[in-house]
Amino acid sequence: MQNVTLNNGVEMPILGFGVYQVQPDEVERVVTDALAAGYRSIDTAAAYFNEEGVGRALANCGIARDELFITTKLWIHNEGEAGSRARLERSLERLGLEYVDLYLIHQPYGDVYSSWRAMEQANKDGLARSIGVSNFYPDRWLDLALHNEVMPAVNQIETNPFHQRLREHELMAEHGMQIESWGPFAEGINDFFSNPTLAAIGQAHGKSVSQVTLRWLIQRGVVVIPKTVRPERMAENLEVFDFELTDAEMATIAGMDEDTSQFFDHSEVSWVKGLGTHFIDR
Ligand code: NAP
Repeated sequence: MQNVTLNNGVEMPILGFGVYQVQPDEVERVVTDALAAGYRSIDTAAAYFNEEGVGRALANCGIARDELFITTKLWIHNEGEAGSRARLERSLERLGLEYVDLYLIHQPYGDVYSSWRAMEQANKDGLARSIGVSNFYPDRWLDLALHNEVMPAVNQIETNPFHQRLREHELMAEHGMQIESWGPFAEGINDFFSNPTLAAIGQAHGKSVSQVTLRWLIQRGVVVIPKTVRPERMAENLEVFDFELTDAEMATIAGMDEDTSQFFDHSEVSWVKGLGTHFIDR
């Protein structure tokens, strides 16, 4: 597996496995299958309500802890630094782990400054090997970084052929922050898996739309964490290191950028009010 090196020296697999929308009663089987297929990086979140099942799969997989890279995320709350620390400790308990490899602020809402200070301390205490953010636009992560000690190691944001985040990617690279894609397949919307441009490129390499997409992201240096509940797709999504897209193919995919979210804009007032005040007790 190819790795990226984060700004604190921690190595992270460039290809991992996401479990958003995997049901709590299915996630243990899904993560067990993903680990058997060869994934070593698993991305979950307190808000996915499935950390317990991920933890059971990790406990039974027989893979050494230091070969795994586990990410979870802190949901929006207004409980200050102590609340953030307690939430991380509860996630660790649900996962059955002593530390996570990456802990992310899930959404750019609420008192993220106190959360970040708690996360900096958790990092020093060894509960999170790296810390980062998710769904942060540049103004938000840069301000957070400028007023704290630690530059976030990662920003996990929607990144796919329709929403490529090219300028943001460049800015993150300038500041030593790793871009990580969520929704690499735009969750399948807009007939993603039969997209003619991606399918034609795939045909030239004997590869599928999903493989071309993951390869394009990896060639850009973007960390990917595709989600599937099906073992045959888990294997398919891993087979992306035996071919290379040409410069012309990369340019063709660059031409697909609509430069807009396929889901929602975190800076929109309705989302700040709605999602930004959606609390969960986890
Ligand atoms: P995604 O990976 O873009 O798409 C998942 C969808 O694609 C599922 O419907 C899956 O169906 C299908 N699929 C997967 N591989 C396929 C293949 N080879 N051929 C055909 N269909 C395939 O969407 P995502 O789950 O939203 O994003 C990935 C991960 O990013 C998440 O699981 C989560 O860990 C993370 N994420 C984070 C945030 C955030 O706010 N930080 C938001 C969203 C997601 P089946 O399962 O039926 O195979």
